[in-house]
Amino acid sequence: MTQSETKLNPPESGVIVRMYNSGFGDCLLLAFPGDDGQARYMLIDCGVFMGYPDAKERMQSVVRDIAAATGNHLHVVAVTHEHEDHISGFRQARDIFDGIAIDDLWLAWTENPKDPVARQLKETIVKKAKALKSAVNRLGLIDQGAASRIQAVLDFGPFEMGVNSKISELDYLRQQSKKKLKEQEDYRRPGETPLTMPGVKGFKFYVLGPPRDPAAIGITDKPSETYLTSMMNEEAAFCIALEDRLAVSSKQDEMLIEYCCPFNKPYEIPQKDAAANKDYGEFFRTSYGFTGEKGQGPEWRRIDGDWLAPSEQLALRINNYTNNTSLVLAIEMPESRDILLFVGDAQVGNWRSWQKVQWAPGTHGEKGVDGGDILNRTVFYKVGHHGSHNATLRQQGLEMMNADKLVAIIPVDQEWAHTVKGWSHPEQNLLDGLEEKAKGRVLRADRISAQLEKPDNIGTAAWQSFMSKVECGPDNLWIQFTVEDK
Ligand SMILES: [Zn+2]
Repeated sequence: MTQSETKLNPPESGVIVRMYNSGFGDCLLLAFPGDDGQARYMLIDCGVFMGYPDAKERMQSVVRDIAAATGNHLHVVAVTHEHEDHISGFRQARDIFDGIAIDDLWLAWTENPKDPVARQLKETIVKKAKALKSAVNRLGLIDQGAASRIQAVLDFGPFEMGVNSKISELDYLRQQSKKKLKEQEDYRRPGETPLTMPGVKGFKFYVLGPPRDPAAIGITDKPSETYLTSMMNEEAAFCIALEDRLAVSSKQDEMLIEYCCPFNKPYEIPQKDAAANKDYGEFFRTSYGFTGEKGQGPEWRRIDGDWLAPSEQLALRINNYTNNTSLVLAIEMPESRDILLFVGDAQVGNWRSWQKVQWAPGTHGEKGVDGGDILNRTVFYKVGHHGSHNATLRQQGLEMMNADKLVAIIPVDQEWAHTVKGWSHPEQNLLDGLEEKAKGRVLRADRISAQLEKPDNIGTAAWQSFMSKVECGPDNLWIQFTVEDK
């Protein structure tokens, strides 16, 4: 094939969205019609979940296609958040990205190393992850299965950034981008003046999230500060109890640790002393077992590791924080003012905050714009977090997407998620809701060549019009949809 045949051509008015089938991860290429007749390209995320079969090879094929489709030129790269399944391609296919020019890089304010709120947020996440790593190590001694489950959650990152390569994926992009991110205003913030793309007239890019309020992202205060107001929650307690053994720095910390351990100090008998003690050693040996030898009690009675059980929940919660730092973009088309909504993996706190984001009337269009209005005008929705139950809000989300021509697109591999990971992506309830709202117009990375069936709640003409705008790539590499601006 020649270059022109492989190039992704935008419609005369509207946008074409190509969703790559990276496996389990996000990678979306958008083509806009430029004023000079030349296409302008935007890439949103590029990754696959760690441990997905042939991850590197898949990302290499994906990025080779991106290079060909764009003529080695991306006008904007937007990265929603720092999770492996959204950024791994910038590492796994770095050799190909080296040959692709990048004009501009859009990152959320949460990625600005100079922003004190962002810094604290990251520090909190890393601190919790550290505590968890220590839990995983201990848990591994007692329950290997549970330990590896948690490790899998931690594999999402961003705690391992830079481990597999000399520089992190985001730093690589910062280097590659022609426009440099230096100041506060170079990072994207909700409610800022809508962005534009040079050479593309009329399209407006509204930033809805992540919210500036750390509470909305789900970060509570530092445990050492909240304890004093007796705001200790189970999660903070867990972190502190684990961290004690790493380093006890102050009298106050020591108090906190004692407060958080399963038993009060006077009642605690360290495991190493229990079996050996001459006064009560026999009781422990016959009742709780220690060596597995004959005459030793049952080991299952021991609870040494039980208090570590919440660590899996905690691992998931840390991941949710990072999901909630997702950059959320609403792209408004010039004529119809229809919206394409890209939410990354935003979860509840991020979604909720959009209701309060406003753009004053007169300044950016004749009418005022707010989050609710944006949801109302959404005609194309990139489903959050691979269709998990908590990354598409119901009342303040999908139920507000009332456009008659709504199309939803889900980057997911259900079979792999179910059978290999035991995850419920995409959640059936959400799928039902999407099918209902979009009248069957739900495109999925794991159903690229599958024949979609027309449901009863859509007319034949509308269905045919939808199907005529869907196109599938070779070897199930991508599926794309043309969003017309009319
Ligand atoms: Zn994700």
